[in-house]
Amino acid sequence: MNTAIVGINWGDEGKGRMVDLISEDFDVVVRYQGGGNAGHTVINEFGKFALHLLPSGIFRKGVVSVIGNGVAADPESLLNEIRYVRDKGVSVTPDNLKISARASLLLPWHKALDCLEEQRLADKKYGSTKQGIAPFYSDKYQKKTVLAGELFDEKAFFEHLESIMEWKNLTLEKVYGAAPTTLDSLREWYDTYCVPLMPFIGDLDDFYDDCKELGKNIMFEAQLGSLRDIDYGIHPYTTSSSTIAAYAPIGAGCPHMKLDEIIGVVKAYSTCVGEGPFVSEWFGEEADKLREAGGEYGAKTGRPRRVGSFDVVATRYGVKVQGATAVALTKMDVLSYMDKIPVCTKYIVNGSRTEKFPFPSLLNSAKPYTEYLPGWGVDISGVRKFEDLPKAAQDYVLYIEKQIGCYIKYVSVGPERDSIIIR
Ligand code: GDP
Repeated sequence: MNTAIVGINWGDEGKGRMVDLISEDFDVVVRYQGGGNAGHTVINEFGKFALHLLPSGIFRKGVVSVIGNGVAADPESLLNEIRYVRDKGVSVTPDNLKISARASLLLPWHKALDCLEEQRLADKKYGSTKQGIAPFYSDKYQKKTVLAGELFDEKAFFEHLESIMEWKNLTLEKVYGAAPTTLDSLREWYDTYCVPLMPFIGDLDDFYDDCKELGKNIMFEAQLGSLRDIDYGIHPYTTSSSTIAAYAPIGAGCPHMKLDEIIGVVKAYSTCVGEGPFVSEWFGEEADKLREAGGEYGAKTGRPRRVGSFDVVATRYGVKVQGATAVALTKMDVLSYMDKIPVCTKYIVNGSRTEKFPFPSLLNSAKPYTEYLPGWGVDISGVRKFEDLPKAAQDYVLYIEKQIGCYIKYVSVGPERDSIIIR
């Protein structure tokens, strides 16, 4: 069984907790795109974790976690994260963590360039997490990165790296007026962060062949969501990689494999980190209340997330581009304080109502059309069966299911592993 767990909205939908829950049934969990800009929160017997690069399967005994070729492999972040989970008693060895030799390395200048460009853009900035993701992917597609597998031939690695450094220093110095990168600093970076990672790096081809032959279950874990996809998201407020399920086998390193199941994760309300259109956004006191109730602060940056009503229009679109076969609706418990629950069911674009997600440039002027559903007014975090939910909560789930056109298989009522209703 090959299953992808993907985000349906702007990211932060609770994918990490869903992967942590479902990974019990899987042998392999793969991250296939994105990089250290993700912030998957997982709470389990080891404690509470914000994972950025490591697959959320890392906590499960017997599960192999893989970082695929589509990921921005940042040696510094990876090594720090391995140490962070090891410190809490989690075992991380070359047997349960594999990094593709074909993954490009995120290089020291990528983070610097990300910060410099956001500074230059000033009030027009994209709201980058400054992890170097956009400079990394643009360099990857210019073929100006080095592959993880190149680390094994130190001499050739440094020759390649030096030639890229000379090119990159032109941008640092002449475009941004910043200090150039030195070869000494690259050597230090190599010794400190790359060398300790080498035991984890290898060719994944045989590994996937074995998985296929032995009928292993593979889970593909995405970062961010449909609306941040480089091709199908809200351009230009997207990330620089493909967040959709169709890319999963490519970014994982097994383009010959097919997905059997695609689980789209979405919150029972909307949140968005960073800039760009967010049609159902709330402001003021109501927004503060929801933000507090949901603890909506970025796992990576700690910055307050923008919050709003569940957005049927964006979610229906998100489900479609992902090709989701089932949905996980998370954070239902957070809505318990509301008397009535606003849901954005349509957009008003150029004076007309529409249920279709508009072309990105039209989103700037789109306004929400809001309908209200009854609240349930009681704590539901202890509920484990759908039929035990208050009628209004059941109706909310069924209403959303109908609107987005996809079966809601999971309803999450708390951040802990077992706070889940499986239908
Ligand atoms: P991801 O990036 O999609 O994995 O999402 P994040 O981890 O950034 O955000 C989800 C946040 O919501 C985390 O703090 C989770 O612990 C928390 N969370 C996930 N599901 C639930 C839920 O059903 N209820 C509550 N109260 N919190 C949840």
